[in-house]
Amino acid sequence: MAAKDNARAASVLGKDDLIVIGGAGGFIGGALARYFQEQGFTRIRAVDKKPLPEWYQRVPGVECLCLDLSNEKNCRRVCEGVVEVYNLAADMGGMGFIERFRIECLRSILINTHMIEAAYRAGAQRYFFSSSACAYNVELQKRPDAAALKESDAYPAMAERGYGWEKLVSEMFCQEYWAERGLETHIARFHNVYGPCGTWDGGREKAPAAICRKVIEARDTGARDITIWGDGRQTRSFMYIDDCTQGIDMIMHCDALIATPINLGSSFLVSINELVSLAEEIGGIELNRRYDLGAPQGVGGRNSDNTFIRQVLGWEPSTPLKEGLRRTYAWIEQQYRDRKAGKRTIS
Ligand code: NAD
Repeated sequence: MAAKDNARAASVLGKDDLIVIGGAGGFIGGALARYFQEQGFTRIRAVDKKPLPEWYQRVPGVECLCLDLSNEKNCRRVCEGVVEVYNLAADMGGMGFIERFRIECLRSILINTHMIEAAYRAGAQRYFFSSSACAYNVELQKRPDAAALKESDAYPAMAERGYGWEKLVSEMFCQEYWAERGLETHIARFHNVYGPCGTWDGGREKAPAAICRKVIEARDTGARDITIWGDGRQTRSFMYIDDCTQGIDMIMHCDALIATPINLGSSFLVSINELVSLAEEIGGIELNRRYDLGAPQGVGGRNSDNTFIRQVLGWEPSTPLKEGLRRTYAWIEQQYRDRKAGKRTIS
């Protein structure tokens, strides 16, 4: 679906307006820094607590700062002179991480708390917060065929323990900074994002990357089995990274979406078994499936209801899963080869 004539950063900002991106050493923040750099913005300040050599992308011409944004002083420093802030920094990962490290997830509240205050004090024009579908009521997501989640389904609240509650409370901060102080805030609830330059190994990776890696490993080692977390019938939708960066830009510059959480996700639902089949097809291999029923598997079913985004932006994420997964698989395969050859990789 082609977007209607939505405002974008390129139509609203000056090319030398300062854009600050928190969490830019990670997957989505790194892609966003590249997206703005490609639009010709000359003052992008990318910030992450990871040491610079560990950043997933270092975009030429972008100022890269290694700072912990859960520290108030650092937030004030990075927001000096800022026009727009994109907060994508969070301690997070796939189900394996967020079910096990709830305290770390909850502590990300400090990042948003200090960043939004710093943005407000610095006189920022706009503030973006990356929320998550994990903010939705888990009671509505028990079955694989659960109805797609619409924005109003976050309340009455029963978010995912740890991570989801942090997102919900941070959303509330964004809404109150607009209501009480007039800081223009924008909130997107991402549904599983995947693509090249994301975590693919090490415990924080999400299902698409983990499954591609397992298929690549099996091809390489000659293993005949693949282990799947849960019974494989749990369902999800997956959004390709390019749709995510484009969606962030449109949501941030839409006046109808000030302080209004909105889904940013694909509405194409697949089961984990179907995702495995797609990865196998790409890899040209068929594996015996072993189901680890004790592994973290999250909710039974989760999809994005895109009625609202279609209505307000005339757009929704549309990269076909097969196409996006093919690009992701190719990138992970290269990472896998590089690692075997002793080269530096990003996970
Ligand atoms: P990511 O882990 O690749 O990137 C997050 C980055 O934040 C990391 O590089 C990390 O080092 C950095 N960070 C953590 N704590 C920090 C701190 N105190 N100071 C500075 N930097 C810090 O994750 P991502 O997939 O790029 O996710 C970006 C945002 O989108 C997060 O807020 C996440 O919760 C949200 N989100 C992502 C998905 C997804 O599928 N990837 C889904 C829903 C929501």
